[in-house]
Amino acid sequence: MTNLPGPDLLAPGAAEAWLRHLGEEADAERLRAELSEGTLPRAFHQVAARDPGRTALTIGGETVTHGELDDLAARVGGWLQGRGVEPGERVVLCGGNSLDLVAGYLGILRTGAVVVLAGPTLTEHELRHLVENSGAACALAQDPALEKLSSIFGDDGFVVALESGEPTSEDSLRRAISDGEPLEPRDAASDEVALLAYTSGTTGQPKGVPLSHANLLSSIRAAMWSWRWAPEDVLVHALPLSHQHGLGGVHATLLSGSRAVVHDGFDPGAFCEAVESERATIIFAVPAIYERLVEWEGEADYSSLRLAISGSAALSPALARKVSELLGQDVLERYGSTESGLSVSNPYEGPRRPGLVGLPLPGTELAVVDDEGRCLEPGEDGEIVLRGPQVFSGYMDLPDATRESFYAGGWFRTGDIGRVDPEDDYLTVTGRSKELIISGGLNVYPREVELVLEDHPAVERAAVVGAPSERWGEEVVAFVVPEGGDGVDTGALADHVRERLSAYKCPKRFIEIGELPRNELGKVQRDELVRAAEEETRAGPS
Ligand code: AMP
Repeated sequence: MTNLPGPDLLAPGAAEAWLRHLGEEADAERLRAELSEGTLPRAFHQVAARDPGRTALTIGGETVTHGELDDLAARVGGWLQGRGVEPGERVVLCGGNSLDLVAGYLGILRTGAVVVLAGPTLTEHELRHLVENSGAACALAQDPALEKLSSIFGDDGFVVALESGEPTSEDSLRRAISDGEPLEPRDAASDEVALLAYTSGTTGQPKGVPLSHANLLSSIRAAMWSWRWAPEDVLVHALPLSHQHGLGGVHATLLSGSRAVVHDGFDPGAFCEAVESERATIIFAVPAIYERLVEWEGEADYSSLRLAISGSAALSPALARKVSELLGQDVLERYGSTESGLSVSNPYEGPRRPGLVGLPLPGTELAVVDDEGRCLEPGEDGEIVLRGPQVFSGYMDLPDATRESFYAGGWFRTGDIGRVDPEDDYLTVTGRSKELIISGGLNVYPREVELVLEDHPAVERAAVVGAPSERWGEEVVAFVVPEGGDGVDTGALADHVRERLSAYKCPKRFIEIGELPRNELGKVQRDELVRAAEEETRAGPS
């Protein structure tokens, strides 16, 4: 990216400066155009060509330089093209974190085909939906998805094996490409679709989210910029690369010529060992990982870290405090989604306030609106809407869902409820709109109740849901994970909540639970909790 806007937009106070500049249309447009410029394969190739010998990635026990990764991308691309994969075609990519997965990803991009990202734990039924919905005719996949995808495609497509380390399978990608002709990145428009991600689909079928090169580049560039990502940085993370959060770390590394150590799954000992021995400067994690990190009893030297970033789910202030004590610095929270990319972040300099996700990233506009899409005053709760070059333009082949998800002018309805602080404009995310509890006709925002519960010393973590109730329509039910082994005195907890919240927000029931059910990104699976609360109702008082 050339011709970056001046340092006044970079910080200190990057986001505030950006907000001021939003008034000046010429600057705003120029910045957005620069954030979106180019394509992923070209941008990665340019950085690799500048300094090919720099280490890029350590993953699955293998370490490669930017030049070696670029060469792998070229050979995978060349081989795929040789097998007839054309620009615009869909190719499923499904596996755990490995060098093969990254090479496969970069190779598909190089052909101009669209990467269909699939989580490695998807069932055959879920994979079938992705294949049929995307129209993919081939896949790069790791066991056990490899077998499932082979049976889904039958004779109508082909599947190549992604492996970790030395290839063992006859159909392995690395064997296949050993004599492949390298492919140069092609000329392409930045609004071409690079990736088809799928929503997690907790309600209904997962929806396809087409993301263009411009969407993906502007999303990560704005964050890199705000976080001062530099070639000297070393990122460590253990997030799945099949999700935008983990994949964004690889994008940042390849765009900056820096280095990343990516684990396949989180193990606190291995993670901390990597932070210490690699002198990591940045870590990416979700709150569920930070929870396990603070519980870990080992010791590590975290002094090299300059940024501990959290996102994908709400970070409780109590956990944020524990992480700050452990790492000797405050966590930097950021907020985003598959559809809207990275959108909001605590500023690099300036206060990082636990539980608040911060200010819009450069290039992003944010508003909080009521049910009719009218802007609300700071301090009022409403739906968070976003606009910017990183926001997708609509779900694949779903015009109705797309229409419902946008307001006029390209404002994406995130489905998240939030409020902007009247003092400093920081955004708080209070929950998903579909998680809103309507009890006795009044709105209860689960996160508000959870924060009060988590403020009690006997509570480590809480999740609040609405369970069907004849009397209230929905009743507020709190699931609490006790801090330590002593359990929770629910009478004392009820008093604690009553002192702080209006009666209609106070849980009617408290259910103690060892661990909250979560998905692989650490998001609490509230539908499971609602089912558990319903079962308890059916079972009656014990
Ligand atoms: P995904 O599309 O899987 O990335 O999920 C996006 C959703 O995760 C958002 O719409 C929010 O509901 C939630 N989310 C992401 N980041 C945060 C955060 N920092 N705090 C609270 N919720 C978050």
